[in-house]
Amino acid sequence: MQEYKSDKLVVRYDPKICIHAGNCVRELPAVFDIAKEPWITIRGAPTEEIVNQVKRCPSGALSYEILDKDR
Ligand code: SF4
Repeated sequence: MQEYKSDKLVVRYDPKICIHAGNCVRELPAVFDIAKEPWITIRGAPTEEIVNQVKRCPSGALSYEILDKDR
């Protein structure tokens, strides 16, 4: 399990579950870009946008946790 973290958000990625549908890299390339290392740029878009994209992962390989609950 890979983990990408800012002070507001954690995005987790499980490569064993990913079916490589490509939704994440196609729809939000500012955050999800396999040409980059690390491939998830957690500050590449507003938290809400990243969360919405994570929810569209068809396999469940991506998951998230909101850290800043006082927002
Ligand atoms: S959207 Fe989910 S299943 Fe599709 S490539 Fe991204 S992580 Fe993998």
